[in-house]
Amino acid sequence: MTPDPWENLFTMIDGRRDELVDLAQALIRFPTVNPPGEAYRPCAEFIGRRLSARGFAVEYVHAAGTPGDSERHPRINVIARREGAARGPCVHFNSHIDVVQTGAGWTLDPFAAIVKHGKIYGRGACDMKGGLAASIIAVEALIDSGASLPGTLEISGTVDEESGGYGGVHYLAERGWFSPPRVDHVIIPEPLNVDRVCIGHRGVWWAEIQTHGRMAHGSMPFLGDCAVRHMNAVIDRLERDLYPKLMARRTDMPVVPSGARHSTLNLNSIHGGQAESSGYPAPCVPDSCRLVIDRRLLIEENMDGVKSEVRELLEQLVREREGFSYDLRDIFEVQPTMADRNGPVARGTAAAIRRVMGREAEFVCSPGTYDQKHIDRIGKLRDCIAYGPGILDLAHQPDEYVLIEDMVNSAKVMAMAARSLLFGTV
Ligand SMILES: [Zn+2]
Repeated sequence: MTPDPWENLFTMIDGRRDELVDLAQALIRFPTVNPPGEAYRPCAEFIGRRLSARGFAVEYVHAAGTPGDSERHPRINVIARREGAARGPCVHFNSHIDVVQTGAGWTLDPFAAIVKHGKIYGRGACDMKGGLAASIIAVEALIDSGASLPGTLEISGTVDEESGGYGGVHYLAERGWFSPPRVDHVIIPEPLNVDRVCIGHRGVWWAEIQTHGRMAHGSMPFLGDCAVRHMNAVIDRLERDLYPKLMARRTDMPVVPSGARHSTLNLNSIHGGQAESSGYPAPCVPDSCRLVIDRRLLIEENMDGVKSEVRELLEQLVREREGFSYDLRDIFEVQPTMADRNGPVARGTAAAIRRVMGREAEFVCSPGTYDQKHIDRIGKLRDCIAYGPGILDLAHQPDEYVLIEDMVNSAKVMAMAARSLLFGTV
């Protein structure tokens, strides 16, 4: 190892700027929209072909039978692995290849990957094909930089992150693809900004509250029992009792934006009575009302406590409000997760940011979840972070883009971090 291996590596990555742009464009041009999971196979095979030409052993894993999997939309993941010259740790870069629907408001073709003013535009440019392209260029440059590398490099392109990861990282983690000793350190190039290291995310509890009533003619509501009025009592209780408590509960997690540094609750949707239609309503007292809640929890909270807090509030209404009855149904839950900011991958990436960007890295947590949850909880792999070139606020927006300069810089950061981890010099 030369005293300063970095300049050579960085020069090499600078020289591949055009190649990096071409690669990101090629990835964006696969319209891997989820749902339903379009073009997963050709996108995975494109990545596989490229890495197999670079000496990687490539495997395709079809997550058969997972949500959305069908003959037309198979859930195809790609994992590429390259063993080095000597034994050592395994550094894995995991990117999801799915993107969300385009939505309205685009001024450019979302799948043309147009380059303008130093940016590449397209659905997935930011979240997260720009990050995937940067990680591939980083790893290829590292391999080509001459030194014989110990340890193992892995790159995966996985599906369905936007819909929970069940056909992607969840499926793979359950089958040992993300567990030690196969893998030791994971970097997920999600769009968290080029100078930030994301060490975790808040947890989630989605649930449905249903209140019950009794049907009657709408002209004589006193003969029935209105489920919507019962739900109004629930929301009133949430407003008066729960929201102030949640606002007061602050976390030590460095969540960005800082507004998400306390517990939050979103009322996702509400429906009571007859279905919405353009015709005249029939006069009925609603016998059911359903409210979907989206509760985000902090590392300092526990899931059981979060649930019983809501259940207790509903039980109070049972005691105090005549005719009140409810059901509470779990829809989905994810535990909060936070890696050690002094762990090897966080430290190695922060050191690389300092070197490449000339400023201190910021450690952050994400307000929402991403695939780190499966790597942590199922894979039992703690040394995992998210780091990538995209600008967080642009994710899922119309005219989403990634800055080419950020892709180049993040490729340098990823290459430097991977090299330090492989050589154990973090
Ligand atoms: Zn993403």
